[in-house]
Amino acid sequence: MTENILVSIAWPYANADIHVGNIVGSHLPGDIFARYHRLRGNRVLVVSGSDAHGTPITVRADAEGKSSQEVYEYFHKRFLELFKRVGITYDLFTTTHTENHFKVSQDIFLALRANGYLFTQTEQQWYSSTEKRFLPDRYVEGTCYICGYDKARGDQCDNCGNLLDATKLIGPRARASGSARSSALELRETEHFYLDLGKAAPQLAAWLNEDKEHWRPQVINPSRTQAGSGELRGRAITRDLDWGIPVPVEGWPERGKRLYVWFEAVIGYLSASIEWSALNGKPQAWKEWWYDKAAKTVYFIGKDNTPFHAVIWPAELIGAGRVYESDPAKTLNLPYDIPANEFLNLEGQKISGSRNWAVWGFDFLSRYDADALRYYLTAILPESKDADWAWEEFVQHNNNELVATWGNLANRVLTFCYRHWEGQVPDAGALRPADVELLAKIDNGFKTVGELIESVKLRAALGEVVSLATEVNRYLDVQSPWSQVKIEKAEAAKTIYTALRAIDSLKILFAPFVPFSSQKLHEYLGHDGQLFGAQKFITVADSLGAHDGLTYDGSGAIGRWQPSTLRPGQALRQPQPLFRKLDEKIAEEERARLGRPSA
Ligand SMILES: [Zn+2]
Repeated sequence: MTENILVSIAWPYANADIHVGNIVGSHLPGDIFARYHRLRGNRVLVVSGSDAHGTPITVRADAEGKSSQEVYEYFHKRFLELFKRVGITYDLFTTTHTENHFKVSQDIFLALRANGYLFTQTEQQWYSSTEKRFLPDRYVEGTCYICGYDKARGDQCDNCGNLLDATKLIGPRARASGSARSSALELRETEHFYLDLGKAAPQLAAWLNEDKEHWRPQVINPSRTQAGSGELRGRAITRDLDWGIPVPVEGWPERGKRLYVWFEAVIGYLSASIEWSALNGKPQAWKEWWYDKAAKTVYFIGKDNTPFHAVIWPAELIGAGRVYESDPAKTLNLPYDIPANEFLNLEGQKISGSRNWAVWGFDFLSRYDADALRYYLTAILPESKDADWAWEEFVQHNNNELVATWGNLANRVLTFCYRHWEGQVPDAGALRPADVELLAKIDNGFKTVGELIESVKLRAALGEVVSLATEVNRYLDVQSPWSQVKIEKAEAAKTIYTALRAIDSLKILFAPFVPFSSQKLHEYLGHDGQLFGAQKFITVADSLGAHDGLTYDGSGAIGRWQPSTLRPGQALRQPQPLFRKLDEKIAEEERARLGRPSA
């Protein structure tokens, strides 16, 4: 039975480069999950994009004397390039700064308004008379009214960690950002739209309390508490900012009102699905993931994003009901699962881009391979608790597992076969009980590993594949074809044929995790074709200008999640090592790079 699987991956802010914490938090697990389902023959749609709006972008633009558009476009292009190199197979990685996303976000806003889920309210906000504008909370600095710290931000105090009410800051001033901003601030009244979370709460609570046994406890438990607390109220979904999506209400854009970034960025999952459909000439196709109740929509995010995806986004979907769909019985699908990840630390400390305490994607790839990154990150995935990237451990995982257990297994069997059987898969004749037993174990891996991936236990799934590779090594130790070949070549042929078939199966079991090496191995084994499809850059023109994207064309992919049927006589290709062994000294060199100003 073919399933429709929507893989929704968190939208990164386009205000800084991507580091390993970002990759492991959402992009990589989403890709592993998607690749597996594609191999299973399911209809997979993977969407995400750059979050181009909001103060993270404008703050950086102000600090660098650039426009917000320049900042977002610069980082967006780098995201596309990095995801291609790491092999994150987005069907569409787009941005929130597109005509399509503007329209879909505004339409969701209008649907919420028509269904009575929005209200307006007047609040007080700091106003700068020199700049003649309201300042977002992040732009205001002052003394914390909780702990007395004198450089607290309007939205949060970095000293005591509390979320703050900006209007209560003591001695507020505009945050210095290159330009002179010493003018006094005054509180002025401003009107905003609010999402009525309280109205959605009963439906939210009912939904969160049914069929969620497959959710991670750290995701479902706090979400149930939040939805059932009776404390969900309105939350402002518009703000005074000149960068972002205009509020689609007469007179509001002229007053400088934009949709709040947290409100519109999550709509990106829907708008990107719609954009993907249009780009592929099937404008209604997205409905198969968004309205078909059998479809599964799975959200890959970091834990800091959990309330937005498990409470607020479902509230938006419940309130909107339906868009671009005339059948009143149909409503937008709520998340099937939200396997949020905990955080990744680095050498025992929190990752910090500004202190350069980070392993940056591009920098890593300048010295190591994408599969080495994917392997190590999967092996330490913070699925149930925070994890730590340690360079020494990276080298150990690479050398002991990826190289010794898996790469060497494939390479030595292939090389041996290539030499002794004239580069062909040997004819084994009838297999012996030990051969049949090994192949049965490997074949069973398609079930066990598949079930682990489906329940998003990716770390355990990879561990299971590695232990299957260890089984093949053990089998070879017992059979010892290296000496057997001199005494009784027909027996050695049975061993090598069995090992090759096991390796051909392991190639597929490893493929969602380390796809680049699986493709190479596929070719060394003498097969043709690509296990997965091709990633392609695109440029789309619209009324806002043009934006770049990354897409996936799976039409030529031949990989299938099923055991090998390797035929005797198949011609191999000259094998090469699959992975590079790393010098243990690199751990020290890499640690020395951390915390230094980047080049
Ligand atoms: Zn404080």
